[in-house]
Amino acid sequence: MTTHASLIHDTLQRLASLPPGTEPFLSLYLDMRTDGGGTHPGLTYLRTALVRQGRALGQRGAAVESFQSDAERVQQYVDSVLDRSHQGLALFACHARGIFEAVALPLAPQNSVVVAQSPRLYQLARLVDDYRPYCVALLSRTRARVFTVALGDITLNAELHQSDREVTKIQAGGWWKGTYQRRVENTIAEFAEDVAARLAQVCEAEHISRVVVGGEVTALAALERALPAAIGKLAISIDRMDAGLPEHAVLLRTMPAMADVAREGEAQAVAELLDLAAHGELAVVGVEPVIYALQQGAADELVLSDSFSAKGWRCTNCLTYGSGGTPSTCPACNAAVVQVDLNESLAGNATRLHVPIEFVRPGTQLDGSGGVGAFLRYPLP
Ligand SMILES: [Zn+2]
Repeated sequence: MTTHASLIHDTLQRLASLPPGTEPFLSLYLDMRTDGGGTHPGLTYLRTALVRQGRALGQRGAAVESFQSDAERVQQYVDSVLDRSHQGLALFACHARGIFEAVALPLAPQNSVVVAQSPRLYQLARLVDDYRPYCVALLSRTRARVFTVALGDITLNAELHQSDREVTKIQAGGWWKGTYQRRVENTIAEFAEDVAARLAQVCEAEHISRVVVGGEVTALAALERALPAAIGKLAISIDRMDAGLPEHAVLLRTMPAMADVAREGEAQAVAELLDLAAHGELAVVGVEPVIYALQQGAADELVLSDSFSAKGWRCTNCLTYGSGGTPSTCPACNAAVVQVDLNESLAGNATRLHVPIEFVRPGTQLDGSGGVGAFLRYPLP
């Protein structure tokens, strides 16, 4: 995984693991792309949103002071420090808690500026799910490149040349021809084995779950034969991808294909989830069972529809949260509770517990089953 993608992961994990609090947390997501005239609509949005949020908080008090310091620091950061070559920015600040975390995003998020009592991590977690890392192997008969793509960043991981092997030059023609032909085929097969071995290494080291292959037909056929079964299962091939394609073009060609793969994955996850849940097996649907599963440590993967929207509550002292009517105090520790958006709580809770999240676009059958479900590690009592 590239350094930048790890940075995004680490920031998400760190923020999700913060102890609960009540201080105003500023979470912002900005689309940093310029419009036709060279201005940044995202920055205009930011200025207006900060003023609006400031007004909403009122005139005085520790919360207002904390927010004002954050707003100034954010504005300063965006004006002077930020590298504007990135498409997006996610920033989380809470002066009262000494937190200021900014990450450049390789992809544009939806503009959003929110002040709440905890960081808003849904968009960041969604980005991480949408752009899971994958590998690309692009090869001709004599050259192969292996790339990794993580969160829209592409890195050349390995380059192999057939000349690295000792290729015996044999004169073609005459009665030599048959031997020559075999030698060429052997060389292609041997080269494909080298590439397959390297690809397997990269996949294991980078925890890759998808592989895209492309390039010359003969070389590709040889690679497919050489791939270990475990890697072969992860592979999808893209037609007519030139073996010599430059890095940025590799990114442009493969990202839409991977978005399709992700969508198929969503549909598959929903079908499997509903089927298991209907048979009372290792899955639950609906917000209450899902929260229970997470709190029991039984959730293996969270499946969350973008259409899911519900208010809930969380404790300001311990990690308890829930759906439905807000209790007057926390049932676990008696501390004060605050109202929350449950999609944020679920995404934050799953991230904190290292439970992977499959975010699902609206319009699947999951929407009719409460919009959220979870695969379980073991059956719940
Ligand atoms: Zn509590």
